[in-house]
Amino acid sequence: MTATIALNDGTSIPQLGFGTYLVPPQDTQAIVGTALEVGYRHIDTAQMYGNEAEVGRAVAESGLPRGELYLTSKLDNGNHRPDDVRRTFAESLARLGVDRLDLFLIHWPLPTLYDGDYVSTWQAVAGLIEEGTLRSAGVSNFEPEHLDRIIGETGVVPAVNQIEVHPYFPNERARAASLSHGIAVEAWGPLGQGAVLGDEVIAGIAERTGRPPAQVILRWHIQRGDIVFPKSSSRARMEENSRIFDFDLSPQDMAAIDGLDQGPQGRGGPDPNTFAY
Ligand code: NAD
Repeated sequence: MTATIALNDGTSIPQLGFGTYLVPPQDTQAIVGTALEVGYRHIDTAQMYGNEAEVGRAVAESGLPRGELYLTSKLDNGNHRPDDVRRTFAESLARLGVDRLDLFLIHWPLPTLYDGDYVSTWQAVAGLIEEGTLRSAGVSNFEPEHLDRIIGETGVVPAVNQIEVHPYFPNERARAASLSHGIAVEAWGPLGQGAVLGDEVIAGIAERTGRPPAQVILRWHIQRGDIVFPKSSSRARMEENSRIFDFDLSPQDMAAIDGLDQGPQGRGGPDPNTFAY
């Protein structure tokens, strides 16, 4: 169902996963359970989403061997102090019912909070690997200057940077900076959180290739080499979103989708440099 991407720490990650942002806790066990039945083996959650325990229950109920699953969570914005990183990471493990996570990310850099000290947060997250409870450490919503700073001050390069990327906001500056450091890009909101699905250019390519708009958009990401985890609560859409490895978009179609870039206007989420919560 999916390809894998090699990370800079010697591990690998399924290129397609399942996102759980805004999946309500009371529905999460059933929805993630369905995603696992459909064949997803990579689940993206976060302390902030409030659904780690229910993701954990779906994983346990699936009976799948732990080694077949790739589980990611993220540090909540209130937990940047190093002691809080270690304490709340242990809580995430307990909620998920596992003794090791595959990937843990700093969710937002928060440069205007904690005296701008996301470097000690990064040191604490990366330090979890030595404890044996984490395989890969990464960041999310890090701009080029944030990456330069943590790498310059610690010498430790994140394995991934999870950033907003979709045809309306390709986020090329942060994406190129990540790739130049050997950091894999995870594209959050790959469908523009739904906004790109009704686009006319996408509709034209969908019509010509006989593929639904969601598959056209997700295939664009896959051919660019990014990691994606679209979210859907419907089994039919989960299945649709997983069938993206059996066709190719032509260079012309890729270029046409590249042309949908709306610049800064295309950003759907907050600006990481000013976001403070
Ligand atoms: P998305 O781009 O995956 O879009 C989800 C929306 O598209 C939903 O409304 C869904 O109903 C619809 N959709 C999905 N498949 C469809 C299909 N085949 N046909 C028609 N509509 C379809 O947006 P997202 O969920 O925000 O992003 C994906 C994941 O990225 C999240 O679930 C979360 O895991 C992660 N994320 C991370 C951050 C971060 O700050 N790190 C921020 C947002 C999201």
